[in-house]
Amino acid sequence: MTNDRDFSRQSFLGAHSEALFANLRVAIVGLGGGGSHIAQQLAHLGVGHFRLIDPDEIEASNLNRLIGGTQDDVDHERPKVEIATRMILGIRPWAKVTSRQAKWQEADDLIRDAHVLFGCVDGYQQRDYLETAARRFGLPYIDIGMDVTRLHDASFAVAGQMIMTLPGNPCMRCLGFLTPDKLAQEENRYGDVGINPQVVWTNGMLASFAVGAFAKLFTPWFSAEENYTWLEFDGNAQTVSRSQQPDYFPLLPVCPHHGGTNGLGEFGFDIRRA
Ligand SMILES: [Zn+2]
Repeated sequence: MTNDRDFSRQSFLGAHSEALFANLRVAIVGLGGGGSHIAQQLAHLGVGHFRLIDPDEIEASNLNRLIGGTQDDVDHERPKVEIATRMILGIRPWAKVTSRQAKWQEADDLIRDAHVLFGCVDGYQQRDYLETAARRFGLPYIDIGMDVTRLHDASFAVAGQMIMTLPGNPCMRCLGFLTPDKLAQEENRYGDVGINPQVVWTNGMLASFAVGAFAKLFTPWFSAEENYTWLEFDGNAQTVSRSQQPDYFPLLPVCPHHGGTNGLGEFGFDIRRA
């Protein structure tokens, strides 16, 4: 029998990283263009426990970006969580995958017992609610999103971001990514070009940043001592940089945005009301 757990090429992540990843439980909310990429990479990395949550089935319009999706899946209207489960188990048959075809607010038991929460959802309000859930359960939150904006000369600006926040540290509102204006103006609008424009290569970039943030969080490969990470991806220039935006927001000593007196969230928080 061949060795099904040969991680020799990523041994720089630490002597015990293989066992560490195999014991980690990751929750991924949204298994579309971004989440499917993250699920695939985490399976390759050797993560052992997955919690997958998405209410939707694949549609023909998802095939431009949904990793692991096939025409046959579209023909059979398979749930996105089923496609991701198949992909993960194809790479790591020993992984334990728990999935639910539901809204994440109805699957809090899958988030509650995770070690980290990945948010791959549309819209600012959903991100805000998900981060609140992460704080309530004391989890690091890793969020990706992209946007396409029409420029004055009828060309387009492709951009995205990956943000990682930690309980008890600045949240996406503290950092100035989520503002009252953005949350108020959203009204189902996210981006200027059609409904949630998404392309496979931008999702892949952002998913890679997210998995990199995850690896940094859990392995000793590089001690960064960061209390948040915010990377901005300029899809036109194809460059990535640390956001300068938090420099313009004086950070409060304790995040006041998610309830509780310690920035960790309200004890009575009920995820189903989010
Ligand atoms: Zn905050």
